[in-house]
Amino acid sequence: MAKPIVAIVGRPNVGKSTIFNRIVGERVSIVEDIPGVTRDRIYSSGEWLNYQFNIIDTGGIDIGDEPFLAQIRQQAEIAIEEADVIIFLTNGREGVTAADEEVAKILYRSNKPIVLAVNKVDNPEMRANIYDFYSLGFGEPYPISGSHGLGLGDLLDEVAKHFKNIGTDDYDDSTIKFSLIGRPNVGKSSLVNAILGEDRVIVSDIAGTTRDAIDTVYKYEGQEFVIIDTAGMRKKGKVYETTEKYSVLRALKAIDRSDVILVVIDGEEGIIEQDKHIAGYAHEAGKAVIIVVNKWDAVEKDERTMKKFEENIRDHFKFLDYAPIVYLSAKTKKRIHTLMPNIIRASENHSRRVQTNVLNDVVMDAVAMNPTPTHKGKRLKIFYTAQVAVNPPTFVVFVNDPELMHFSYERFLENRIRAAFEFEGTPIKIFARERK
Ligand code: GDP
Ligand code: GDP
Repeated sequence: MAKPIVAIVGRPNVGKSTIFNRIVGERVSIVEDIPGVTRDRIYSSGEWLNYQFNIIDTGGIDIGDEPFLAQIRQQAEIAIEEADVIIFLTNGREGVTAADEEVAKILYRSNKPIVLAVNKVDNPEMRANIYDFYSLGFGEPYPISGSHGLGLGDLLDEVAKHFKNIGTDDYDDSTIKFSLIGRPNVGKSSLVNAILGEDRVIVSDIAGTTRDAIDTVYKYEGQEFVIIDTAGMRKKGKVYETTEKYSVLRALKAIDRSDVILVVIDGEEGIIEQDKHIAGYAHEAGKAVIIVVNKWDAVEKDERTMKKFEENIRDHFKFLDYAPIVYLSAKTKKRIHTLMPNIIRASENHSRRVQTNVLNDVVMDAVAMNPTPTHKGKRLKIFYTAQVAVNPPTFVVFVNDPELMHFSYERFLENRIRAAFEFEGTPIKIFARERK
C-alpha cells in the first residue's frame, strides 16, 4: 500500500528536525556508514498505532541562496505539493511571529489538511501559551515538546485521522513497480525510452495521478509493469525544483513506491561520490536492486574492461554485493533486452519465501561448518530460524542470547542462506531474538 506522506513545516528553530527524529525514531540500520543515508535525513518512515507513513522535514531542504523568507515560503510550497497532511510547527516559547504568519498565508492556499502544533511546551504550566496560536486560523493548536517527547501521541492521532481520506495510487500486488535512479545525465530518460521502445504494450501513461512522477504501465510477456519515472518529469520552473535535496526527495519517494530499483551509473564517466549516496538510499530502503552501467558503447574496451569495472563497483558499493550488474547502452540498445529478465528475477527473489525445514537444515549445516561464536565463555546457541517476512526476505534466528550474535557470524549465516536459496538482487535481513 502506498503510504501517506506527512510534511513538517515551520520557520527555523521551532524544532522541526527534533520532532522529525522523534517520529522516525532510532531505526536500526544494517549499514551504519553509508554516506548520505543516516546523516542529514529529510525523508523517512514513521509509524503510529496501525498507521505507516512517510515523513518529510522540509526544514532540511536547503534552498540555495534565497533570502530567509523566500526559503521558508518555498519549503511550505514543497510541503503542499508533496504531502498528504501537513504539520505546521510553531514555538510556544516565542509566541506567534511574523514568519509564522507568512507560513500560514501560504498554507491557507492549500487544500491539504493542516495540523497546527506548538512545540517547546515542556511543562503543563506552559500550556496557557498556546491560545495565541488560534489566531493563525488552523483550529486547535496541539501543544508538544520535542525535547521531552510530550504530546506527540495526541498530535499523531489528529494527523492520522486525515489518512483515512487519502486516495492511494496503488497497483495490483502482482504488478512489478520499478524506478531508475542516478545522478543527472547518466541516461535515465534514455533508458526509459529504450525499455518502452522494445515493443511493449503500453497500457497507460498516468501523468499527474501521482504527485511527482510519470507512471507508465506496460506489459511484458504477460506480466504487468510500472516504470515510475521521476527523471522524465518536466521541470516546472520553480526555484526549488532544481535544488539537490529536492531531487533526492523525489528519488526517495520513487524508491519507496518501487519493488525494484535500477541504480544507473555512467560507464563512460565511472563512479563518483554522488553515485554512492544514491545507491545507499536504494539499499537502505530494502528494495531489490540492479546496478545498470549505461553508455557502455562509449567505453573503450578490451577483454578486461568489464571485470575491472565490476571490481570497481563492488569496491565502492560493498553494501550492494547482492545486486547484479548489467552493462548496456540506451543509445545503441545493446543488451537492453537483458533488463526485463533481471527485473523479474530480482522481484521474484525479493518476495521469495523459503521452506522452514530447509532453512533450518541450512542454518544447522552452517553451524556445523563454522561453530557459533563465544563471548566471556558463553557460546551462542541457535535453536530455530524462521522467515518472518518478504520484500525483503527477513529471518529471525532464535538464540539463547542475541548479544552473542556477532556481526561477522550474521554475515556468515547470510552467505550460507544466499548460497542455498535464490536471493540475487534482493537484500535479506537477519535478526537474532532470544527464545523465551
Ligand atoms: P528546526 O530548525 O525547526 O529543525 O529546529 P531544531 O529541531 O533544530 O531545534 C531547534 C532548537 O530547539 C534546538 O536547540 C532544539 O534542541 C530545541 N528544541 C527542540 N524541541 C524543543 C522542545 O520541545 N523544548 C525545548 N525547550 N527546546 C526544543
Ligand atoms: P538523465 O538525466 O539521467 O535522464 O539522462 P538522459 O537520458 O537525459 O541522458 C543524458 C545524456 O547522455 C544525453 O545526451 C544522452 O543522449 C546521453 N546518453 C544516454 N544514454 C547513452 C548511452 O547509452 N550511450 C551514450 N553514448 N550516450 C548516452
